[in-house]
Amino acid sequence: GYKKVLEENRKLYNQVQDLKGSIRVYCRIRPFLPGQENQAPSVDYMDHETVAIIVPSNSGREGRKASMFNKVFGPSATQDEVFSDTQPLIRSVLDGFNVCVFACGQTGAGKTYTLTGPEELTPETMGVNYRALNDLFLISEERKNLMSYQISINMVEIYNDEIRDLLVTDGKIVNPAKKGINVPGAKLVPVSSTDEVVDLINLCRKNRAANDRSSRAHSFLTAHVFGKDLTAGTTTIGCMHLVDLAGNEKLDDSDEEAMHVNKSLSALGDVLVALANKSKQVPHKSCTLTQYLQDAIGAQAKILMFVHVHPDLSEALETLNTFKFVERFSTVEGGAGKSPEVRELKEQVCLLRSALAKKEAGDP
Ligand code: ADP
Ligand code: MG
Repeated sequence: GYKKVLEENRKLYNQVQDLKGSIRVYCRIRPFLPGQENQAPSVDYMDHETVAIIVPSNSGREGRKASMFNKVFGPSATQDEVFSDTQPLIRSVLDGFNVCVFACGQTGAGKTYTLTGPEELTPETMGVNYRALNDLFLISEERKNLMSYQISINMVEIYNDEIRDLLVTDGKIVNPAKKGINVPGAKLVPVSSTDEVVDLINLCRKNRAANDRSSRAHSFLTAHVFGKDLTAGTTTIGCMHLVDLAGNEKLDDSDEEAMHVNKSLSALGDVLVALANKSKQVPHKSCTLTQYLQDAIGAQAKILMFVHVHPDLSEALETLNTFKFVERFSTVEGGAGKSPEVRELKEQVCLLRSALAKKEAGDP
């Protein structure tokens, strides 16, 4: 029994070490919505780490571009499956590390679905936000003889480079922290059960509904976890940001909203590239988004990016752009510049597979 526990601990420790300072990039392909199932898709789910985008071409012969990720979730993946890999991250928050989970992709690609869920929530359709908080509560309960934990959350959005509190009805602007993870002035609510979190998320939704700019704002659910070792008396502080990023569709830079979205996303990309390259200079200061996340996207950071794909063929070019955004900092073999051979071979497999499918369907 003891040996098994040790082994289990070592496995978890190794998982945490693996994650430290790394950026994992997962891709999720949205299913077609009811009534649209017969449309031509923009992507092919090739295997658990490869997606091929079907690139439209004028010559009639469509091209295929393979992209690789740490993991790919196809259109039928459940919320439970999508969440299942994040447990080591959640544990490390209780150990005093900072964690950032992002959802990126164009508007309509499923970012909010992954993090929050659909309008009508059921236990099955609850998104990462609820599940992550639920795990925090469960694991802190498991450790209750060793550690005492206090968990608080705040929820804000960044719109036009300003931070607004989503837990208060007037959505007032709060000052960005000069340094550190606390936003002075943003409401911080102690929570001890998933039910309380559900209520707070609903309150946020209500506060946002009055002024829906969700596709132009980055929204955050942040859990602050304060731990106290009951025997040693030592303390830990961990933080987890769950970030629903603004839609990254190509926007005309002429209006202010679009300008801020483009600027902040490229600033975030620059920070993640610096981290991926283990660079000493990380450009956190360039906008409110990266400043706000400063402590959670540093050298010790554990970062998970969920990249969302819209299934419509007409959106393939946007998907290409989204992939370009993440390929800059993805450390996956076969990602941009990493191993072109692997990518080329995957593309050939992809073309052959589609040729075979056509033959089998009786196409000449
Ligand atoms: P985004 O936040 O990226 O703009 P949404 O999460 O709002 O996109 O998703 C757009 C629509 O697609 C919503 O109606 C949502 O419920 C639905 N949707 C997104 N992802 C899924 C999924 N995995 N399964 C079922 N419906 C989904
Ligand atoms: Mg959304």
